[in-house]
Amino acid sequence: MQLPDGAAALRAQIVAVGTELVTGDTVDTNSAWLAGRLTDLGIDVRGHATVGDHEHELLTVLRAATTGSDVVVVTGGLGPTPDDLTRFAVARLAGVALERRPALVDDIRAYFADRGREMAETNLVQADLPAGAQVIDPVGTAPGFVLRVAGVLLVCLPGVPAEMRQMTERGVVPLLRRHGGLSATVRRTVRTAGIAESTVAERCAELFARLSRTNNTQLAFYSSRGETRVRVTARARDEPAAHALTDPIVAEVVQLLGAAVVGLDDEGVESVIARQLQQRGWTLAVAESITGGGVGARLVSVPGASEWFAGGVIAYATASKPTLAGVPERVLAEHGPVSEETAAALATGVRDRLDADAALAVVGVAGPTTQGRRRVGTVCPAVALPADVVRTRTVRLSPRSRQDLQQFSASVALDYLRRCLAAVQGG
Ligand code: ATP
Ligand code: MG
Repeated sequence: MQLPDGAAALRAQIVAVGTELVTGDTVDTNSAWLAGRLTDLGIDVRGHATVGDHEHELLTVLRAATTGSDVVVVTGGLGPTPDDLTRFAVARLAGVALERRPALVDDIRAYFADRGREMAETNLVQADLPAGAQVIDPVGTAPGFVLRVAGVLLVCLPGVPAEMRQMTERGVVPLLRRHGGLSATVRRTVRTAGIAESTVAERCAELFARLSRTNNTQLAFYSSRGETRVRVTARARDEPAAHALTDPIVAEVVQLLGAAVVGLDDEGVESVIARQLQQRGWTLAVAESITGGGVGARLVSVPGASEWFAGGVIAYATASKPTLAGVPERVLAEHGPVSEETAAALATGVRDRLDADAALAVVGVAGPTTQGRRRVGTVCPAVALPADVVRTRTVRLSPRSRQDLQQFSASVALDYLRRCLAAVQGG
């Protein structure tokens, strides 16, 4: 399938310059941000490279990045210090000299004069640009520039993230628009929980293969802490046309994944639960053990939570379970603190004590040691609904750190509540 207007996407590479990036002292956030921004503009980002402040290696990387690309965006190394080498490497790559721009000299002097600061002469190196380069106005003192090198649009921006972003929006995006060949990319996300990434991929396999044969739509899977996201991407001549491509694909993914679908895009399980409760006019209470308040914290992150969130207890020590939530001693003695029976008693107890319509409870073993017969990673959520309907289940999470298990348990509990509410509401 061709793009509707037949245009092929511009191919881009991103080069991040700085020894602190290569050594791992600074995380390269610029490349990720630029990649997202260029992708939104319908540019096909083909690769990233990171290189230290060494002219020879920088030149090598630039040569490779410009090969086969239409656009190369470089960030970093435009400052006035001896380790800022981008301008020199680019001039050598293009085979041109650096020339001092009088207008930039004036700007730099004015920048320091305005702030009543003395200017070291070395700052004026920032007024030196490769011959033929076009200035991108600075946000701080470092101007960026654009130069055409063997047909490739080479864009150089400073490394300071805030400066780089503003200069991209003000100077680079308009330039790319004038340059033409842009399109629009729309990215939608279908969020799932309580289903393995491999199962998600399996159910979408036929759709995945079908989209792989197009050059403007695509499916991808990302997984973290119990949530698998299906990313639907489409490129078209403009945003409405791209949406027209993604909408039916999103609907198809939702259909394929059924009850595992939590929400779309920014819609997390917390806001879905909020909607489910509000539709019923129900309030919710929580009783948490393993998660230590993590479930409540996630629920109150939804604006307006006071309308449906009654509150909860952290019944952590075994002895606190009868005191805080009225769990019968007999249940604890017979089934132990990590059991579906105890979780159920916590849920009904906290529901009744807080006079709520529904309640969620979660118990589990976060480790490092087993609790009685219960292995680390055992999690039992329970949901109490009106009319004494109580549902429970047991989930066994694979071993991971104590903190990960606590966070994962909160996700398990919230997704279980979502599914129980969906079942009682018929969807
Ligand atoms: P300046 O005029 O400030 O010297 P510059 O172009 O020389 O600009 P750098 O010296 O490379 O930029 O970096 C300036 C600051 O921005 C540093 O704090 C650096 O850690 C940070 N930085 C540089 N590149 C990146 C990047 N790719 N991602 C995140 N931070 C970055
Ligand atoms: Mg620098």
